[in-house]
Amino acid sequence: MKIMISYPPLKGEGYPTLGQNRQFQWFHNPSYIYPMVPAYAATLLKISGYDVIWNDSIAEKLSWEEYVKLLEKEKPDLIFYETKTPVVKQHWQIIEKVKSILPYIKIVLAGDHVTAMPQESMLNSKIDFILTGGDYDFLLLNIVKWIEKKENLEPGIWYRENGEIKNTGIFKLNHDLNKLPFIDRDLTKWKLYGEKFFKYSPYTYTMIGRDCPWAKCTFCSWTTLYPNFRVGSPEKLLDEIGFLIQKYGIREIFDDTGTFPKGEWLKKFCEGMIERKYNISFMANFRFDYINEEIAPLMKKAGFRLLKFGLESANQKTLDRLCKGTKVEDIEKGCRIAKNAGIGVHLTIMVGYPWETKDDALRTLDLAKKLLDKGLADMLQSTVVIAYPGTPLYRQAVENNWLRFSEGEWEKFDMTYPVFKFSDMKPEEIMKICDEIYKAFITPRFIMRQILSIRSFEDFAFLFKAAKAVIGHILDFMRKKG
Ligand code: SF4
Repeated sequence: MKIMISYPPLKGEGYPTLGQNRQFQWFHNPSYIYPMVPAYAATLLKISGYDVIWNDSIAEKLSWEEYVKLLEKEKPDLIFYETKTPVVKQHWQIIEKVKSILPYIKIVLAGDHVTAMPQESMLNSKIDFILTGGDYDFLLLNIVKWIEKKENLEPGIWYRENGEIKNTGIFKLNHDLNKLPFIDRDLTKWKLYGEKFFKYSPYTYTMIGRDCPWAKCTFCSWTTLYPNFRVGSPEKLLDEIGFLIQKYGIREIFDDTGTFPKGEWLKKFCEGMIERKYNISFMANFRFDYINEEIAPLMKKAGFRLLKFGLESANQKTLDRLCKGTKVEDIEKGCRIAKNAGIGVHLTIMVGYPWETKDDALRTLDLAKKLLDKGLADMLQSTVVIAYPGTPLYRQAVENNWLRFSEGEWEKFDMTYPVFKFSDMKPEEIMKICDEIYKAFITPRFIMRQILSIRSFEDFAFLFKAAKAVIGHILDFMRKKG
């Protein structure tokens, strides 16, 4: 059987952030995150003896015509698509078109939106299978083997039989991540992927955990896919890093687990990095309450160059309502601990909570400015909060009539407009604050500090790339209508 793991071309204002992205938006000058779980799926299918094609039309910038030519040439028997709320309706149309080109084809759809609302896509499209939960790899292999009549279907799969829609119940995240092979990087075109914060080339991604040990934030779309946390062993990640260094000469890695594990797991990992003398630059997503004075120096010694923290808001009432599990005072403290240890800090911030006033939003902007100006943060990324179906925030939004759009107007959840109604702010003011947060970089002190930190050509190239990214994001926000 020939299987294509595919991101087909999508229509919109720029390029969509889809694979591996917990939030969706359109960018004009994007970088692409390596879709880790689909890459595991491709690898698992290949080592199970199937013919696998990796197609990322978004990262490869293929037009629809080029995509059709590829389908006609490769003639896959089965295609896997990952979708998200703002483009699910486009995927329904694509399924229809692809089936008219290759009538025998079976198509599998996955992602947080269809995990939350599988029936909607079964009813509105000709999709053959919906795979719910985030174990795309294990479940896709299971579907393929079921088609070949070798296995029963596992829980979490929707399918059609004799014209009826059927399902195998609620998905179970009971697959052992230690049993996964290392991702086949050549098969999955690893060179296509890398965000602008990478500094040392060649670089790549890993993902040892699914997805976050906290898994409680009410807005987080990936808690729909992974309501509980599993992680491979520190040795497994260390072995994969060793393999990447040896085979590809990798110098920098970002592990895109939603939140990198803490405690004994982290200690073992750091000690392993030091013992094995890997000497590469490492980055991960982390939480302010996970960093402390004991672990930070060890992380630095192990090669951690940058940590990404979700600041979300400078207002305690918002952090509490989001079930973020952190205190406002943890934010500056966590940044300081990381920076004192010599680890860079990348902050992600959100604006546009339906309960926040303009003053609340401006407080978040002020905190971001302060942290950058004091040298406690190196980069920040701001987004407009979106309530994705499946999240507690979406349920609250529906119950409280917070949404500006009706259920089904999914294309409007693409961050071009805020989705919420606000008591004292217009949507365009939210977009402006989001834009201001990006501009918070541009203070004379911050710029001077960056210039003085240049020690090598790599530092210069990185700074140039980062400046271009900030300008690109500001332009993207200016294009949005608000
Ligand atoms: S800490 Fe981050 S990854 Fe974890 S649930 Fe919250 S937003 Fe999601």
